[in-house]
Amino acid sequence: MVHAEQVTKSFGELQILKGIDLQVFRGEVLCIIGPSGSGKSTFLRCINHLEKIDGGRLSVNGSLVGYRQNGDRLYELRDKDVCRERANIGMVFQHFNLFGHKTALENVIEGPVQVKGISKKKATEQGMALLERVGLGSRVHAYPYAMSGGQQQRVAIARALAMEPQLMLFDEPTSSLDPELVGEVLDVMKDLASSGMTMVVVTHEMGFAREVADGIVFIDNGCVVERGQPHDVLGNPQEERTRAFLSAVL
Ligand code: ADP
Ligand code: MG
Repeated sequence: MVHAEQVTKSFGELQILKGIDLQVFRGEVLCIIGPSGSGKSTFLRCINHLEKIDGGRLSVNGSLVGYRQNGDRLYELRDKDVCRERANIGMVFQHFNLFGHKTALENVIEGPVQVKGISKKKATEQGMALLERVGLGSRVHAYPYAMSGGQQQRVAIARALAMEPQLMLFDEPTSSLDPELVGEVLDVMKDLASSGMTMVVVTHEMGFAREVADGIVFIDNGCVVERGQPHDVLGNPQEERTRAFLSAVL
C-alpha cells in the first residue's frame, strides 16, 4: 500500500527526511514513533501529496507519487492525478481541522457531495451511519464548538471515512486531547483497525501501538532507526537511540 525507498525531503538547506525506507501492506496497521522534529509529519504529508519528495521513490496503492534518482528530473503526478489519488487517502490531524460553521453531519457529507458528486440524500444516509459507528449518532446536528475534543476528533475520523479511503493516515490524533478523552478516540481507531483498514499512525500512545500495531517504526532525525513487531521494538529495542526515546516516553 505504501512503498518508500530512500525518500528524501528538504526545506531550504535543511534535510528533514534523509532516506526513508518503509513499507505498509494492505490491511496492516503501522505505528510510527519518534521524537518531535524527526520528520514523522513530513513523511505522512509526502504520502498524502501535501509535500513533494526530493529524491528516492514513493508509491501509494501501486501508483507512483514521486521518483528521482542520481539527479534525474523528478517524476511527479499532474495536479488532476494528485486529486484522484488523494481521494483514496484519509488523513486525521492532531487539531481535528473541522469546518467550524458546519454541523458534524455537514462536515462528514462535504467531501462525498463536493468531491465525489454523491447525492446529498445518499451522502446523508452514509454520514449518519458513519457518525453512528464512531458513537456520535446523537450528535449529528451539533457544531464543533459544542463538542468535546474527543467528539470532534471522532467526527474528523468519520469525515475521512466518508470518502471510502483505502488508506488512513493519523498524525498524533490524540495529542491535543485531555487525557480522559483519549480512550474514546483510540477505541474508534481500534475498531477501524479490526475492520481491516490499512492505517499509518504517528502516535505517542505506546499502549495503543503495542495492542493494535502490526509493525512499529522508530524514526529519529529523518531516518528509520529501527522497525519490527511491537513486542520487539517496544519490549526489546536493539538500538541505543530507540532505548533512549522509549525510556523518556514510557
Ligand atoms: P515531527 O512530526 O516528527 O515532529 P515534522 O515532520 O513536523 O516532525 O518536522 C520536522 C522538521 O521539519 C522540523 O524541524 C520542522 O520545523 C521542519 N518543517 C516541517 N515543515 C516545514 C516547512 N513547511 N517549512 C520549513 N520547515 C519545516
Ligand atoms: Mg508531527
